[in-house]
Amino acid sequence: ARKFFVGGNWKMNGTIESVKSIVDGLNKAQLDPNTEVVIAPPALYLLLVREHLKPTIEVAAQNVFDKPNGAFTGEISVSQLKDSNITWAILGHSERRTILGESDAVVASKTKYATDGGISVIWCCGESLEEREAGKTLDVITGQLKAVSEKLGGAEAWKNIVVAYEPIWAIGTGKVASTEQAQEVHAAIRKWLKENVSESVAEETRILYGGSVNGKNCKELATQPDIDGFLVGGASLKPEFVDIINSKQ
Ligand code: 13P
Repeated sequence: ARKFFVGGNWKMNGTIESVKSIVDGLNKAQLDPNTEVVIAPPALYLLLVREHLKPTIEVAAQNVFDKPNGAFTGEISVSQLKDSNITWAILGHSERRTILGESDAVVASKTKYATDGGISVIWCCGESLEEREAGKTLDVITGQLKAVSEKLGGAEAWKNIVVAYEPIWAIGTGKVASTEQAQEVHAAIRKWLKENVSESVAEETRILYGGSVNGKNCKELATQPDIDGFLVGGASLKPEFVDIINSKQ
């Protein structure tokens, strides 16, 4: 069985004070031991979070570069993350794809570099509202999957990847996908993995839903057979994040 997984993507939010207070809250909370929890603070606070957060929760960077070291102003390397005991990275988030202009190829290259170097990846995909309304949702998702999968070149790297399906129209909008909408895409992702990578990768890969998940809507989403957890933005900064971690019945 796939272990339920909940990621908290803090995006560009927080202060030293608020970071300490969220970490305190998580350290004190009763968290379901059957849920794997990963927190992604802004780069500036990675070390602070790692130092204070209980060791049963892993920490993720929100990005990582695909070169070993050198003259890459503003970037962070895989080995620097490992040196800091940061074991995960979020890659391919729609905010980086659209606002920072990261192409499928860039995302694929970073994903390959991270997994080769021993960093696990929360790899994100998702369609825009326009694409959904044009009936292109599954084409968009499979195109994104194809780009990363070709670069990874086989089943091995997928052991260190969690897929996050985040429809862009649901991110930060309060418009959560319906359980049917989410389950449909998650099942299609699993089917694609089965047909294009391997049966065991399809069976074992966690597929998370992200986009306006909160303490109220998480329980019903968590009932779906192909929803293996969540990638949470806004609500991961609030006490209700604990309810999301504990949402799997
Ligand atoms: P919200 O939960 O704020 O909609 O953000 C989702 C997201 O983008 C997580 O990566």
